[in-house]
Amino acid sequence: MTIDDLFLRLSRSQFRLRFHLGRAEYQYCLKKGEAQIRQHATDFIKERLAPAVPANDGKQTPMRGHPVFIAQHATATCCRGCLSKWHNIPPWQPLTEGQQAWMVEVLLHWLQQEMQRPLPPEKKPKNKPDQSQQLDLL
Ligand SMILES: [Zn+2]
Repeated sequence: MTIDDLFLRLSRSQFRLRFHLGRAEYQYCLKKGEAQIRQHATDFIKERLAPAVPANDGKQTPMRGHPVFIAQHATATCCRGCLSKWHNIPPWQPLTEGQQAWMVEVLLHWLQQEMQRPLPPEKKPKNKPDQSQQLDLL
């Protein structure tokens, strides 16, 4: 399977397509640069996915907090179940160096695509009733 094949398949999944970098993660990528992000991806995979039976498998990848986590959900490299289903990487055995390298390439490819997008807008504060306006009404 090539990266292009994989991304074509991913593009047909509404679930995977929903994931995008938020403003904070986007800025984190800008600040750290590609080499450091690549190192983080390498470390996360080694620690959280490479063992034959990873701790908390299926729940080891948070939904936020680091751009690589989001990239993992977007590219189905989040848990051994998704790796098996999407990447033909069998469960219950340690990931090989080659499998880990593949995942890092996939993650970086997704992140590079995301970084082609404009900086995501700042989140609007929750819809609190505007107190100053209420006072005016009184
Ligand atoms: Zn998963």
